[in-house]
Amino acid sequence: MRIRSIETIPVAVPLTKPFKTALRTVTTAYAVYVKVTSDDGRTGWGEAPPTHVITGDSLGSITYAIEEVIAPQLIGADVRNREEVFRLIKRSIVRNTSAKAAVDMAIYDLIGQFAGLPLYQLLGGFRNEIETDFTVSVNDAAEMADDAERYIAEGFNVLKVKVGIGDISDDIGRIRAIRERVGTGPKIRLDANQGWRPKEAVFAIGKMEDAGLDIELIEQPVAADDIDGLAYVTNHTLTPIMADESVFSAKDALRVLETRAADLINIKLMKSGGIHEALKINALAETYGVECMVGSMIETKLGITAAAHLAASQPNITRFDFDAPLMLAEDIVAGGIVYDGRTIRMPGEPGLGLDAAGMELIGKGAGE
Ligand SMILES: [Mg+2]
Repeated sequence: MRIRSIETIPVAVPLTKPFKTALRTVTTAYAVYVKVTSDDGRTGWGEAPPTHVITGDSLGSITYAIEEVIAPQLIGADVRNREEVFRLIKRSIVRNTSAKAAVDMAIYDLIGQFAGLPLYQLLGGFRNEIETDFTVSVNDAAEMADDAERYIAEGFNVLKVKVGIGDISDDIGRIRAIRERVGTGPKIRLDANQGWRPKEAVFAIGKMEDAGLDIELIEQPVAADDIDGLAYVTNHTLTPIMADESVFSAKDALRVLETRAADLINIKLMKSGGIHEALKINALAETYGVECMVGSMIETKLGITAAAHLAASQPNITRFDFDAPLMLAEDIVAGGIVYDGRTIRMPGEPGLGLDAAGMELIGKGAGE
């Protein structure tokens, strides 16, 4: 089962409401889809969105890395020898984790099809259903409370609230407004996207603890490269702290784990360069007794389907942040995971579980 060709297809899908964090505002989900065709005519699919402020990857760099750097090395490689294939991808170019992730998930799609197993079962098969949170973009407190109330009414019971913009008291006011509106039932997790300095974070989190706002966890309070600052926050608060932008690779994870700089880790395929490295991050974290979440960038259902297969397969992955496809005005992906409110059901078909014929229509007038 050798790789015959690798193609890229640009896609763009508008969001129904702008997605706003401390790092950026997104109104359209752009992505490069990759189609890997094997010599027996099967197709594996992957996705890479440009996330300039996190991975540094752009539409241009992703397309170039896949077409001009990674693809030429993989043509003719046998996907049954996956360690060889993933070594070729890893060694082909430094960084460029989004391009690597798109190819990695397409290869896993093919391996799953060849094995006759849904990918989540090939990887471990721990569960076949997961539940996603829903993100409240950072805006003024009243708008955020309105959004939160609407998402709870729609059936979500975990809110991921974006903070880290403006004065620290603004952030505390936002969380207070949301908690007052939704009551004590729903879980609230925060994501500061590097928006606080370490001492500010300790101050803000302490205020929230004193006010009884019942925050489940706080993602990436400080700058990605400030591991000492992250550890300072973790050591001076009761609320669990999760590393996101600080952990791309297994090596990054090991540093955070050995220094106990965070209580939890958020794995994203676009940071790790795909499922192969993500499994190593999770195995390290599990060894250190640290649970993982799997999240995503603003991606369509293709990338999220791959991430969900990983997340469903592993017992140490206990939190799921897969709401991005629900923010899009249109679903251009044929097959894959199925959303039923906050519940995500894993497909029973081999590989990612995409509809091969339906996927062929992408880039040929449909979905763009
Ligand atoms: Mg995050």
